Amino acid sequence: MHNREDENFFIAGGGILGLLFGLLIAQLLARPENPITEIKRGIEADEFVPYVQPLFDLRDLKIIGGEALMRWRKPDGTMVPPSNFINLAEDSGLIVPMTRSIIKQTLNHVDDILIRDRSLKVSFNITPQDLMSDGFIMDLTSIVSDSRVKPEQIVLEITERQEIKDEHKAAGVVESLKALGYRIALDDTGTGHNGLSYIQDLNADIMKIDKKFVDFISDDGGTEIVQMLVQLAKRMKMQTIAEGIETETQARILNELGVDQGQGYYVAKPLKPEEFCMQVRKQALK
Ligand code: C2E
Ligand code: CA
Ligand code: CA
Repeated sequence: MHNREDENFFIAGGGILGLLFGLLIAQLLARPENPITEIKRGIEADEFVPYVQPLFDLRDLKIIGGEALMRWRKPDGTMVPPSNFINLAEDSGLIVPMTRSIIKQTLNHVDDILIRDRSLKVSFNITPQDLMSDGFIMDLTSIVSDSRVKPEQIVLEITERQEIKDEHKAAGVVESLKALGYRIALDDTGTGHNGLSYIQDLNADIMKIDKKFVDFISDDGGTEIVQMLVQLAKRMKMQTIAEGIETETQARILNELGVDQGQGYYVAKPLKPEEFCMQVRKQALK
């Protein structure tokens, strides 16, 4: 027969085991999800939304359009910047549905102001995966025609950051997009994998000068690379946009160097789309 001490021992032991088991379950449940599963869940819950950063004419700082920049709006309201998820989205191919969704959402927000002023433009970041994806041109055409924004008002920014595996095919898709009226910008020019021949092959309309090169610019100089890029763009009949302009000095010097347009905190940070539209409307009233 057990005595009372044995019984207490078993009860206490059982309690501890139960507690340990409970802790183990709690830990398993709290373990972070696989990040790709989390992105998939975010896509299904429509958590990827666009912000829009104004682009301006460097001569008078007037807004002439905007770039859609993706944010991950978590259920608790926090806004996650693309640096925390865009590489994963691109590497996993999940970027393909995300890009279409960002284009659709952005056009829903800005269509009114773009229809009212046909000189305004909106830019989207397009990856090589998007270009190579099935039905890209068809889907884009259908989204854009639903919005009544003209293809001529849409700029597709293709980054130099990523390698394009099938340059020949990419160039073909870009050619078809141009024939439909879309404008093509080479993004992050001079920072990526593709080398100078790529600039020629892509036959883009616009060259975006990366923030890296704008950061060097001050009254003490630092303009060499920008000057070289502006010359190259002019020779290739491309417009130029400098990004990451944070100071009045940078804006002034870039204008003097012949850069056409700018983007940067000096004029505006990426804004909620409603706020972007408000800024444009306010400017139209001036
Ligand atoms: P990007 O295309 O080169 O976009 C410009 C980035 O510079 C944006 O960062 C913008 O907020 C930031 N920026 C602009 N002006 C200034 C400035 O004056 N100062 C500073 N410090 N930053 C400035 P963001 O929004 O964090 O986006 C980072 C990158 O993520 C983008 O670089 C782009 O490569 C990628 N990205 C953003 N949205 C999308 C998207 O919808 N699709 C794809 N595929 N990539 C996207
Ligand atoms: Ca861009
Ligand atoms: Ca950039």
